[in-house]
Amino acid sequence: MRGMVRETRLAAEQLVLPLFACPGEGVARAVGSMPGVYQHSVDRLVETAAAAHAAGVRGVMLFGLPEHKDAVGSAAWDDDGIVQQALRALGREVPGLVKIADLCFCEYTNHGHCGVLTGPANPADPAAGGDVEVDNDATLANLELQAVSLAGAGADVIAPSDMMDGRIGAVRAALDAAGKAAVPILSYACKFASGFYGPFREAAESAPSSGDRRGYQMDPANGREAMREAALDVEEGADLLMVKPALPYLDVLAALRRRWDLPLAAYHVSGEYAMLKAAADRGWLDYDRVLMESLIAIRRAGADLIVTYGAVDAARLLAGGWRE
Ligand SMILES: [Zn+2]
Repeated sequence: MRGMVRETRLAAEQLVLPLFACPGEGVARAVGSMPGVYQHSVDRLVETAAAAHAAGVRGVMLFGLPEHKDAVGSAAWDDDGIVQQALRALGREVPGLVKIADLCFCEYTNHGHCGVLTGPANPADPAAGGDVEVDNDATLANLELQAVSLAGAGADVIAPSDMMDGRIGAVRAALDAAGKAAVPILSYACKFASGFYGPFREAAESAPSSGDRRGYQMDPANGREAMREAALDVEEGADLLMVKPALPYLDVLAALRRRWDLPLAAYHVSGEYAMLKAAADRGWLDYDRVLMESLIAIRRAGADLIVTYGAVDAARLLAGGWRE
């Protein structure tokens, strides 16, 4: 009877698994702070994605660890770059899988910021002092290049996570001009400057070498500002909106749900996953139960899609008839 009157449901097809592509062959490098998460060479990434898809997971979100980093992150728009290679291999080997490509430069720049730097500080010389600043408009031009390259390699969805102003409109125009009008944009509309990203930065090797990202990510205290950020992205042509992290920002997710009809995504981030794993490892929490409870709470708040490192675990539990 509880099942008959249950208000919110979770299905494997709503889940998206983040994957990290690195150079080499046969590589599966464990990420210490996220048990079960690896940096994969393209061959192993394809195997992992195929297994996730077979378990019922509908989509993957791709991040890249390039061979070379530079000041502007040019490896991000190399047509033979690591994510571009992964996209082509997934397109060949795992038909039906939705391939979402992250759009940002923090994994590709040698300073770890999400764009081109200007300002008084030379990041190569921490002693120089001053504030590191990201050049918003110079970064937009590079995002356009990256988006067109990723769509050309077969990305089904482009997901800008950089938080530059005007990026959705710029990327939309660039995709349309490149004949990729059918590729939708999943905007990280409300991305908060969060301590919960810590483990991701180990996985993606993207921690800033100096400064932080508070200049372009949102203040965790600001719910109304989140609405303004989302409104701009909707105006500029976003097809889906995302809130990141998920659990600490369920109120923001619910507010977006009330205000817009677009599909919503939530990113259940690395720190949220790591907390569950670490506590379960100590015998303090039942991982399966708290994972499923977390995901259903994110759905209840209004998310259609959930990006989570627990996607395969959850899909398997659902296939096994998981019931609270
Ligand atoms: Zn970034």
